[in-house]
Amino acid sequence: MRPIDLLYAGKAKSVYRTDDPDVYIVKFRDDITAFDGEKKDTLGGKGRYNAEVSSFLFDYLEGHGIATHYIKTLEPATIAVRRLEMFPLEVIVRNIAAGSLVRSYPFCEGDLLDPPVIIIDYKSDALHDPMLNDDLIYALELATPEELDQIKAMALAINEVLQEYLDERDIILVDFKLEFGHHDGEIVVGDEISMDSMRLWDKETGASLDKDVYRFDKGDVLETYASVAERIFSPPRRGTLS
Ligand code: 5GP
Repeated sequence: MRPIDLLYAGKAKSVYRTDDPDVYIVKFRDDITAFDGEKKDTLGGKGRYNAEVSSFLFDYLEGHGIATHYIKTLEPATIAVRRLEMFPLEVIVRNIAAGSLVRSYPFCEGDLLDPPVIIIDYKSDALHDPMLNDDLIYALELATPEELDQIKAMALAINEVLQEYLDERDIILVDFKLEFGHHDGEIVVGDEISMDSMRLWDKETGASLDKDVYRFDKGDVLETYASVAERIFSPPRRGTLS
């Protein structure tokens, strides 16, 4: 399978067409951005950590009956995926109040959100990803009620699977962003699930283990990404196997 031409270059990934019309190649670059692209850097090796964690978690979700676009890893930082018709939605699941939720609403950082809160943004750099509600999604014909119900149900199911997996490794899944698309009439998880798209806290220390380290200069980003990847690939800590 060979990349033919560049279809799209985002802020941190490039997507290539291949000789198979049903398969794209995604290259996770070493670029990192925050605050709508206002802060940007290139950190050698970062793309590889995010690609490896995404691939691992996509595989894990597939093992739990959740369809994803992941096919296989081709080389470090480069994966083959199924071509999806994407919904222009950023589906954010929040278990604990943090980030923009705390900036925009009267929550305190660390407040438990039970049941989890789903927030859906319109994916548009030009419009700065404005928050949607169900009526806006239907009015803009971004998804049908049936599709939206399925997207939300999948997001919550993914949350449960990931929350438990990470908890067994002493990592709190504070919130994360998902993107979905259609493939052969089926709704499938696309994009990535990585330290760039999840907010993760160390269960013991509360330390950030994700892109907040970059956003707010909290430490060495590459070191953090490397250590989180290692924890994610490791077996559960002792005492959690029942
Ligand atoms: P917040 O709304 O607090 O900035 O972000 C909530 C969660 O969604 C965080 O885990 C954050 O990383 C993720 N998220 C929100 N918007 C984006 C985005 O445009 N790109 C990526 N990669 N993640 C996002």
